[in-house]
Amino acid sequence: MLEMTSGSVRDPLRDDARTYLAEFEARLASPPPALTRAARPIASYADRVAAASDLMRVLYDEGWARYGWPVEAGGLGGTIVHRAAMWEALARHGLPQMALFEHLEILAPTLVALGRPEFVARVLPRFLRGEQRWCQGFSEPDAGSDLAALRTRAVPVDGGHRVTGRKIWTSWARYATWCLVLARTGTPESRHRGLTAFVVDLRAPEVEVRPIEQANGTDELAEVTFDGAFVPPAGTVGEVGGGWKVAMHILAHERGTFAWFRHSFLRRQLLDALAHGGAAADGLLGGALLDLAAVRAVSNDALGRHASGATLGPRSAFSKLLLATAEQSVNDWAYASDPDLAVGIQDDHAAVRRQDYLFSRIVTVYGGSQQMQLDTIAKQILRLP
Ligand SMILES: Cc1cc2nc3c(=O)[nH]c(=O)nc-3n(C[C@H](O)[C@H](O)[C@H](O)COP(=O)(O)OP(=O)(O)OC[C@H]3O[C@@H](n4cnc5c(N)ncnc54)[C@H](O)[C@@H]3O)c2cc1C
Repeated sequence: MLEMTSGSVRDPLRDDARTYLAEFEARLASPPPALTRAARPIASYADRVAAASDLMRVLYDEGWARYGWPVEAGGLGGTIVHRAAMWEALARHGLPQMALFEHLEILAPTLVALGRPEFVARVLPRFLRGEQRWCQGFSEPDAGSDLAALRTRAVPVDGGHRVTGRKIWTSWARYATWCLVLARTGTPESRHRGLTAFVVDLRAPEVEVRPIEQANGTDELAEVTFDGAFVPPAGTVGEVGGGWKVAMHILAHERGTFAWFRHSFLRRQLLDALAHGGAAADGLLGGALLDLAAVRAVSNDALGRHASGATLGPRSAFSKLLLATAEQSVNDWAYASDPDLAVGIQDDHAAVRRQDYLFSRIVTVYGGSQQMQLDTIAKQILRLP
């Protein structure tokens, strides 16, 4: 259960979230059919997205998914602690993952903080209700770790900007309506100073999304090409030329607070594997539990910092390092405790576990590779030369 108090000092916002959690737990005592459906192992990613979207609609209509988001953006107030409590409770009640609603915790905090308020008020409720989904277009074929080298351009035109370029490894683009794109508005030499963040409508005719099938059989990743896609002023996030600030805000969430949400589901995965006959006492299992505890500690700290209005900053690199380690150790244990998973069994449960295992091999890359997190810690926290 989420720790809502710190020592003897009671934080009113956290107390409020405690009440929310108690009421949500009472609601889940008779789970909505949409949760029961989304909690089943579903091998097809498209079906998983559909089930998660249905669940979001129910949670939004009943109000639960609106807590933790500001009233002016269509929410019901509160902080990220409400959201953390909601998703952890869903994981406890059998939901195996957030599917592509992970982007709610990666992109939406930045949209709320830096997006144009009228635009955010229009789009966020549809995201929360599962009607529209989002993706993040940062990486390019020659700009991954070195993001400031990106070449996708945005040029000013009458009434807005037009975006032209190619993005790669764009998670969930196939299922998304909107893409938050980082584009160059300055000179090619301007590096991180000449970037701007735009929200591009993926339904535009100037956009092509080509899904990439991964080794685990899902089509989460995609290549996205923009050929002069129009963005009105409402779709600019932050200032023109302020794209680096937007990107760092997003990455701090993707590396920091997001670890809380993902660790809740890794714990669910571990409990499911135990329930399916995984070895109960095992060195790998102990290691996985300790790794999860470490993620919980640092990401709980990140939640508290964000809830109290502090910036997350480079400390998020610690959470991402620990999260990737935990995801691999949970899956190492699951695989070692049931090697039959590699071959033979063909049901949805085994298929999902194989997907999870294979995905865990690449979690050291998304959101910045392990080497780049170590680089951040060395330079920005330890101030090493
Ligand atoms: C599952 C998954 C989902 C993803 N989703 C998205 C998404 O939604 N949107 C998006 O924009 N991108 C996404 N990405 C892309 C991801 O952000 C990039 O793959 C990542 O930033 C690394 O960039 P790269 O692939 O170009 O590798 P490179 O930058 O070429 O790096 C290759 C290797 O060299 C190392 N390296 C590079 N530079 C240095 C250095 N200076 N010091 C030490 N080592 C270095 C790296 O650590 C890595 O091991 C996703 C990736 C994965 C695997």
